[in-house]
Amino acid sequence: MLKLYNTLTRKKEEFRPIKPETAGIYACGPTVYWFAHVGNFRTYFFEDILKRVLLYNNYAVKHVMNITDVGHLTSDADTGEDKLEKGAQRENKTAWEVADFYTRHFQNDLKSLNIQEPAIWVKATDTIKEQIDLIKTLEQKGFTYQISDGVYFDTSKLKNYGALWGNKKPAELKAGARVEMMEGKKHPSDFALWKLTPSGVKRQMEWDSPWGRGFPGWHTECVVMSINNLGIPFDIHCGGIDHIQIHHTNEIAQAQGAYGKMMANYWMHGEFLNIEGGKISKSAGNIITLEKLAQKGLSPLSLRYLFLTAHYKAKLDFSWKSLEASQNALQNLRAKILQFKADRTPENVIKADGPARSDSHSDAGGPLAAYRKKFLEFINDDLNMPKALALMWQAINDPDMAGKEKYSLILDMDKIFALDLDKIEAENIPPKILSLAEEREKCRQAKDWQGADKIRAEIEKQGFRIEDMADGPLVKKA
Ligand code: AMP
Ligand code: ZN
Repeated sequence: MLKLYNTLTRKKEEFRPIKPETAGIYACGPTVYWFAHVGNFRTYFFEDILKRVLLYNNYAVKHVMNITDVGHLTSDADTGEDKLEKGAQRENKTAWEVADFYTRHFQNDLKSLNIQEPAIWVKATDTIKEQIDLIKTLEQKGFTYQISDGVYFDTSKLKNYGALWGNKKPAELKAGARVEMMEGKKHPSDFALWKLTPSGVKRQMEWDSPWGRGFPGWHTECVVMSINNLGIPFDIHCGGIDHIQIHHTNEIAQAQGAYGKMMANYWMHGEFLNIEGGKISKSAGNIITLEKLAQKGLSPLSLRYLFLTAHYKAKLDFSWKSLEASQNALQNLRAKILQFKADRTPENVIKADGPARSDSHSDAGGPLAAYRKKFLEFINDDLNMPKALALMWQAINDPDMAGKEKYSLILDMDKIFALDLDKIEAENIPPKILSLAEEREKCRQAKDWQGADKIRAEIEKQGFRIEDMADGPLVKKA
């Protein structure tokens, strides 16, 4: 049984899909005005784990992600500049060029992190007509009012506004998240559905609407893009924890207003990644991109490993030291895999001083089956990656399992971890060298030391070396 923590009910709940054996996920995507940073990647990683766990449980997953290429302002209080227009000024390009560049960059970054691509990408600028239609519906139902700078949603018209974070009254909202208040706004929690281009200003991204030329609000686009692709209600809506109070609360309000329904059954939020205790922010100058990692010789998969060490609902601190430790752990893991992978001939699994370690352990009652069962339990317990990772290391060091059993167990676990553990041999050690190593192992088993030494010399001539570890030989590049 898969259990997920639902922000809406503040409980861990059994996942019950709307359609049997399928899961629809909507994940709020990037605002493409700048490089995504390690903090953003933590959220996309968490969503990737969610998707992989659903797939592991045999759900057919429909994963939709939007690209916010308009409407996300620099302030959550509906003031400030549009981030895309700001990016265009900074780079002396059009807003469209900026969006295109950072979208591609983001998609490549996801690939390097082994984050599976969503089945559907949607750009906010491709759904302007549908967004205008949604605002018209809200207007017809009496949820909107217009002030000088745009059309706003009147949150006092909804009894249940703020359910996602405990039905706080708008007055309490004021004390919490919002400081600025747009002139004319009736309540601090009211939010922009359509922003009008101020007179005398020429925006690069603007459209005609029944209320005047302008652009849609950020919260409106996600309602349209999710419901249009997944229906209402759909299964799971996710994002970072910062989206609970404003962005997702205001998506829910619009769907409730327009359709009288809760838009998704499960709302999941990933905790933040902080940098040495503090918030990641451009103004603090502590944005870390994958390029910065590469400059320090640290791989994207080391970052993935670091993310695996914390539960998605726990805060995680990024430091170069912790990332280096993750890179080391990943290297150790790879070395183990090579060792287990080489341990695949029956000769290799026979210990001179004990009974043969054989596939008998894969029987239902053996350790392999027990590890598989525990693994499923951990990942299905609200995606508990730290426990699943610790279990993998426990299996690695288990003296009662043969290397080849460990190998098959770890490859199965890697369907979730996605650390490319299945690609290690292909990338590092050519099959010819591995079969030489196997031959040498046969010589050693037969106590043909001369033969073994000859093959070792041949392996070394080809630029590789062999280390004889407690559980078998390990082939490495020299
Ligand atoms: P944005 O591009 O700003 O819309 O953010 C993209 C995603 O990254 C959203 O789901 C945010 O909630 C998430 N996010 C932003 N900063 C962090 C952080 N420091 N740690 C984890 N997630 C973050
Ligand atoms: Zn969104």
